Amino acid sequence: MFDPSSRIQDYLVFGEFGDVNPSITDSSTFTFMTPERMEELFEHEIEGCFLYSRHWNPTNKFLANALARMEDSESAQVAASGMAAISSTLLQICDAGDEIVAAHTIYGGTYALFKNLLPRFGIKVHFVDIRNLDEVASKINDRTKAIYCESVSNPLLEIADIPRLASIAKVNRLKLVVDNTFSPLIVSPIRLGADIVVHSMTKFINGTSDCVAGAVCASDDFVHKLTDINSGTAMLLGGVLDATRAASILKNLHSLHLRMRQHSANALFLAERFKEMGLRIHYPGLPEHPQHELLRSLMNEGYGYGGMMALDIGDLTLANQLMTRMQQEKVGYLAVSLGYFKTLFSPPGHSTSSEIPKEERDAMGLSEGLVRFSVGLDNDIEHTFERISLCLRELKIV
Ligand code: PLP
Repeated sequence: MFDPSSRIQDYLVFGEFGDVNPSITDSSTFTFMTPERMEELFEHEIEGCFLYSRHWNPTNKFLANALARMEDSESAQVAASGMAAISSTLLQICDAGDEIVAAHTIYGGTYALFKNLLPRFGIKVHFVDIRNLDEVASKINDRTKAIYCESVSNPLLEIADIPRLASIAKVNRLKLVVDNTFSPLIVSPIRLGADIVVHSMTKFINGTSDCVAGAVCASDDFVHKLTDINSGTAMLLGGVLDATRAASILKNLHSLHLRMRQHSANALFLAERFKEMGLRIHYPGLPEHPQHELLRSLMNEGYGYGGMMALDIGDLTLANQLMTRMQQEKVGYLAVSLGYFKTLFSPPGHSTSSEIPKEERDAMGLSEGLVRFSVGLDNDIEHTFERISLCLRELKIV
């Protein structure tokens, strides 16, 4: 059985003085003993030699290595944000005139990048229902370079059939790029056939909502392309992660398996209770979720179905009142983002997915009254449920 968390655990790094946490390389630049060596490194990468921290920094490399082990990719690169990881990946793959086929239910910032910014560079994106493989195939032509999706989508929690998308990508010689932000450890897209995995580490991987960071897990060849000093988008667009942050994320990565289990157990508990109350709930751990069986067939064992769920209250005003009351009752915070140790809730239609026009949101089933929950690590989730029930009853939602 593939066990991504044991693979992270088995990655031992010894610091300069045998430190169990490797020393942070607090340096933007690195010395050379001879000018010839410097010239050599500008010509090609040399294992263990560093040039400049926008290119590579040893601390960033430790984190990247651990992430590559987690995703079972040959290599990885860390970035200043999830968006830096996504934009540098797609700009590395596509030239002007190229096209991408992308899921329409994706994070709003990614949607805006695809819809508004990439066309300015001559890159066209076709948005599709990623669950409809015929539709995906119908948009591919000889200019297509990539298929893009999220393994578990934001915010509707649809599941991408990665093995079948990978077959389509392979036949057409495209890169399948998967954003695995919602399901680290749970889904391993590269093992299922994807070429590249991107992450917003701002979320579950870091887990403490104290920084913004991203990652790209891919082949050695692709990571070399990203960091090429003459043509690499990671190198030249400059979305580099600070080494101090890389060090703190690496420490948090080692407790990711415990956190994912607890997030998942708490989310399943709440989703089941909401279902019993007759509420409309999107959670892939419920057998009623249309792709529950698909997720079961794709997921690694032992981490549950994830900490994200969406409750459809139907009406925006009511959803806003519910979130305000839940914050007063200390259920968690009315805040965007996810993967924090406390519960976070937000109305995606009016926040993280507001970049998607209303008519498109309606077409994809993103209701005005949707409340997205990133369920926290609460020790007593029954007590949390009682608090939410009180709010629901007060507002006559149940
Ligand atoms: N991918 C997903 C699924 C997200 O939810 C987000 C942010 O919410 C991003 C990417 C972007 O990440 P970042 O905010 O770290 O740039």
